[in-house]
Amino acid sequence: MSTVQTVRGPIDSKELGVTLMHEHIFVLSTEIMLNHPEEWGDEARRIDDAALRLNELYARGVRSVVDLTVIGLGRYIPRIACVAEKTKLNIIVATGIYTYNELPFYFQFRRPATGGTDVMVDMFVKEIREGIAGTSAKAGILKCCTDTLGLTPGVERVLRAVAQAHRQTGVPISTHTHAHSKRGLEQQRVFREEGVDLSRVVIGHCGDTTDLDYLEELMAAGSYIGMDRFGLEGILSTEDRVNTVARLCERGRADRMVLSHDAACFMDWIPEQDLRRMAPRWNYMHIYNDVVPALKSKGVTDEQIETMLVHNPRKIFERQGAY
Ligand SMILES: [Zn+2]
Repeated sequence: MSTVQTVRGPIDSKELGVTLMHEHIFVLSTEIMLNHPEEWGDEARRIDDAALRLNELYARGVRSVVDLTVIGLGRYIPRIACVAEKTKLNIIVATGIYTYNELPFYFQFRRPATGGTDVMVDMFVKEIREGIAGTSAKAGILKCCTDTLGLTPGVERVLRAVAQAHRQTGVPISTHTHAHSKRGLEQQRVFREEGVDLSRVVIGHCGDTTDLDYLEELMAAGSYIGMDRFGLEGILSTEDRVNTVARLCERGRADRMVLSHDAACFMDWIPEQDLRRMAPRWNYMHIYNDVVPALKSKGVTDEQIETMLVHNPRKIFERQGAY
C-alpha cells in the first residue's frame, strides 16, 4: 500500500486501476502559442475537449492516466487542474525536463555553475513534495529523455538530477528513449551510478523496436519497458508492436511491460489535419479498440493484459523502504 499523487490530491495505489503510463494531455510550444494564439483558439473549448476524451477512456474502464508532459513540452498545471475537475479519471503529472540536447538558458547560469547541488534537483523535489505553481497538484513521477544524440552534457545533467530527486522522494522515473540506438542501456548505467533501484524505472518507447535482445537486456536489469507508442505507425506498425508484446508475453515477460499511446488531446508540433492523416489511430482509444483484441488473437491472456495495465503500474508507483 502506498500513496500516489494525482492532480486532485493523493490516492491509494490500490485505486489506480487500469493505468495508461505514458500519455500527454496538451503538448504545446508555449512561447509560440502566447504570441500566435490562433491555432490553440479558445482555452475553455480545449479544456472541454480534453475532458471529453478522458471521459471516453473512463467509460471504457481506464481509471488513471500518467501525463508525462514536463518543462520543454509546454506543461502548465493550472490548465490540467481545470481538466481534472471535469473528469473522474485520475491524472498523475510529472516533473522533469524534456530535451534531447541543450538545457534552457535558465539552467545554465544557476547551480551547479555557481557551486552546489543542481538547481534542477531542488525544483523537482519541490514539485513532488510541495506542489506546482500554487495548485494542490504534486508531481507523482519524474521524466527525462535521451534521443539519437545520446548523453550530451545537458541530457546527462537532467538524468542525474532526476535520479537524485528520485532518491530523495521515492517517486518513480519514466523516460523517453530512441530505441533503435539502444539509449535505454545508457540511461540504466547513469541511474545505476546514481544508486537508483532500476525496478522503479520505466524505460520508455521500447515498443518502437522489435529487437527482443535489447528489450530482454533492459528487463534483466530490473526495469519496466514502455510499449507506449501504439498508434505511431510511422515509427513501427501496430502489427509489429503487437507481435513484440505477444512474443514477450509468451516468454513470461508480461510482468515487466506497460502499455500506452504517448498520444495527446492536442499537440501543436504538427498541424491537426496533418497529424490525423499521418497517424489516424494515434489516440487514447487505440489500445482498447484495436490493440487488446489483436493481442488476444495472438494468444495473450486476459490475465497478462491485466498485469500490464493494472498490476505493473501499481507496482511502479509503490515505494519500497523509507524515503
Ligand atoms: Zn511522451
